[in-house]
Amino acid sequence: MSERKRVLTGDRPTGKLHLGHYVGSLHNRVQLQDEYECYFLIADLHTLTTRPTHDDIEDMRTNIREMVLDYLAVGIDPQKSTIYLQSAVHAVYEMNLIFEMLVSLPRLTRLPTLKDMARAANIDDESIPFGLIGYPVLQAADILMPRAHLVPVGKDNEAHVEITREIARRFNHLYGEVFPIPEVMLSEVPTLVGTDGQAKMSKSLGNAIFLSDDPKTVEKKVRSMYTDPKRIRADIPGTVEGNPVFIYHDIFNPNREEVDDLKARYRQGRVGDVEVKEKLARALNAFLDPIRERREQFAQERGLVEEIIYTGTLKMRQIADETLEAMKQAMGLRGIWRNIERKARERMKDAPPTP
Ligand code: ATP
Ligand code: MG
Repeated sequence: MSERKRVLTGDRPTGKLHLGHYVGSLHNRVQLQDEYECYFLIADLHTLTTRPTHDDIEDMRTNIREMVLDYLAVGIDPQKSTIYLQSAVHAVYEMNLIFEMLVSLPRLTRLPTLKDMARAANIDDESIPFGLIGYPVLQAADILMPRAHLVPVGKDNEAHVEITREIARRFNHLYGEVFPIPEVMLSEVPTLVGTDGQAKMSKSLGNAIFLSDDPKTVEKKVRSMYTDPKRIRADIPGTVEGNPVFIYHDIFNPNREEVDDLKARYRQGRVGDVEVKEKLARALNAFLDPIRERREQFAQERGLVEEIIYTGTLKMRQIADETLEAMKQAMGLRGIWRNIERKARERMKDAPPTP
């Protein structure tokens, strides 16, 4: 393996990517590409934890393509970074099982994210799949597969990466140093609020602005954004702090003067929501224009997305096999098999060699 430190992170192919994904993780990924060896996974197996039906799997086909187009559009460069399909890397299933032995069930069931994910998928307590409880274990397999050092994710994933760290420590302690202990990297905006004022922008909550939304759609979504509910008229002084419209202005509007002026007038009750929102829509569209343009260009190149995933997956298969081999060596499992093989072959004499 090379000298550069490694990054791993990824997304479930449940739809197109939105501004929350961008500020929470994508932006960091783009920045890290030059300094680190980056691996970005399309977490289709994780999607199965809540969406296992044939129709769900069929949906992933389109979502995977859309998601990779989003990656390319924001500046993830397949010449620098490896993009791969989780379910096509065989070693992940084996690693997952080995790591399942290194974490307790209560540790997993106590995670608040488990309840959140179950609720979001309309799954009641009695029907929680084993695999959903094991979600963070599979994530550990993803992260430890390329022996990653850094994991750029949104705030909601912080607790999961903590479990990966515990599993890595436990493995190293029991069997010898195989894994670096990965660090979480949170962005400046670890959680982006939704357009409806809910804490997290999310596909499933219907409060997202997608990177691929057209300008009219962006305008429409911004126009119906949640603001200060006390402000029923433009001449009532409003609250800027925690107001989604101003949170977005702060992140996406590079014109500081304009933002400061809007905030001052908002506090004094001297500006209407319409003006604040029109200026936000303009800023967001200016931010999204080059992304949409690049997306369009990449979308026209037939087979490009598929080639990127194919090449990346073959590369990851090789790395994963190396890690799995190192794990089995360290654990002594490899030695047990080699011993059986050697003695059997001595006795069988003309037996064909095994793989
Ligand atoms: P959604 O919740 O919108 O359906 P998701 O949670 O399914 O999206 P994941 O694949 O779980 O998306 O997350 C991909 C990455 O994007 C993770 O690192 C996650 O923390 C980050 N992320 C998702 N939504 C946000 C947000 N609103 N703010 C910051 N980061 C986010
Ligand atoms: Mg999520």
